[in-house]
Amino acid sequence: MLLLSAFLGDETVLVCQGFMWIFDQSNSMIPRQFQYVAPSSLKDAVSLLREHGEDAKILAGGQSLIPLMKLRLMSARYLVDINHIPKLSYIKEEKDIIKIGALTRHAEIGASKLMKSKLPIMLDAASVVADPIVRNVGTIGGALAHADPSGDWGAIVLALGAELVAVGPKGERRIKAGEFFVDTFTTRLGPTEILTEIRIPSPRKKSGGAYLKLERKVGDFAIVGVAAQIALGDGGICVEAGIGLAGAGPKPIKATLAEKALIGKKMSDESIKKAAKISAENTDPPSDIRSSSEYRKAMVEVFTRRTLQAALDRMAQR
Ligand SMILES: Cc1cc2nc3c(=O)[nH]c(=O)nc-3n(C[C@H](O)[C@H](O)[C@H](O)COP(=O)(O)OP(=O)(O)OC[C@H]3O[C@@H](n4cnc5c(N)ncnc54)[C@H](O)[C@@H]3O)c2cc1C
Repeated sequence: MLLLSAFLGDETVLVCQGFMWIFDQSNSMIPRQFQYVAPSSLKDAVSLLREHGEDAKILAGGQSLIPLMKLRLMSARYLVDINHIPKLSYIKEEKDIIKIGALTRHAEIGASKLMKSKLPIMLDAASVVADPIVRNVGTIGGALAHADPSGDWGAIVLALGAELVAVGPKGERRIKAGEFFVDTFTTRLGPTEILTEIRIPSPRKKSGGAYLKLERKVGDFAIVGVAAQIALGDGGICVEAGIGLAGAGPKPIKATLAEKALIGKKMSDESIKKAAKISAENTDPPSDIRSSSEYRKAMVEVFTRRTLQAALDRMAQR
C-alpha cells in the first residue's frame, strides 16, 4: 500500500484497496505483455504514437510508468522509448529563455551551474524529488506529463510562468504551464504528442525564488509544496509574483489571487501574510492517509509565507 500511495496518492489508493484481490489473482508484479520500440528520431516516435494510438505509451525514465504497469494499474501494448532520441536532454539559455529538454534527469537539473546561478528554485525542487536513485533516472518531462498533483515540478513550472513545448503529428505547439494541468494525472497533451521542452523566462536581476516542501519523511511526495518566484522594482515594489502549489488540490495549482495580491505592493511581513492567507483560502485540498484537508490548507498558508520570505532572502543574497 505504501508503495502504491507513493505513485498514486492516497485517495486513489483507498479506491484501489477494494480491488486488491484483482491484483492478487493476476500475478500483479509482472506487467501485461507489451512490445518495446526505441525510435531514434522524434518524427519516428510521433509516427509510432499515431500508428498505435491509445495502445502506445511513451517511456522516459520509467519511474512512474513501469511500477504502474507492474501493478497493472496501467497497461500499454507498445512502449515507445524516447531515450534514444538525440537532443532531448539539455539545459541552456538562449535569448532570455532558459530551455530544459524534457528528457533531462532530475539529478542533472540539481547539478546545473546555470540553474544554480539563475534559478536556484530548480535546485530546491531537484533535491527533494524522491530519492537519489529516482532522481538519476526520472525526467522532468515525465514528471510533468504524469501530472501527479503532489509532484514537485508542477508547482515549479506554474510559479515560473513556464511554457511547455509539445511535438505531435501537426508539428510543434506551446502550452502555458497555467493551462497544462487539467486534472489528476491529466494534462493537455494529446495521446500522439511528446513533451519536448520546458521554457522558462530568464529571471530579472532583482528577483528570487524558492521551493519548500512538507513531507512526512525524506523521499516522500509532498503533503504540501509551495514554489514562489518574485521580482521587485523601485522601492521594493513587487512587479512579478509566481506561486505554485503541490498537494493542495486535484492538480498542481497556480495561486493566481495570491500573486495578484502581491503585485504592485511593497513586499513586507504584512503583504506576505495576506498573500499566504489568500493562497490557502483558495485551495480545497483532499484528505488522505498522509494528512487531513484542514491540515493541508493550514500548511499551504504557513509554507506560502515561508517560501515568499525565502524568495526575498535569496534575492538579498544575489
Ligand atoms: C519511489 C518514488 C518516489 C517518488 N517521489 C517523487 C516526489 O517526491 N516528487 C515528485 O515530483 N516525483 C516523485 N516521483 C516520480 C518521479 O519524479 C518520476 O521520475 C516522474 O514522475 C516520472 O518521470 P519518468 O521520466 O520516470 O517518466 P515515466 O515513468 O517514463 O513516464 C511517466 C508518464 O509520463 C509519460 N511521459 C513520459 N515522458 C513523456 C514525454 N516527454 N512526453 C509525453 N509523455 C511523457 C509516460 O507515457 C507516462 O505516462 C517518485 C517516483 C518514485 C518511483
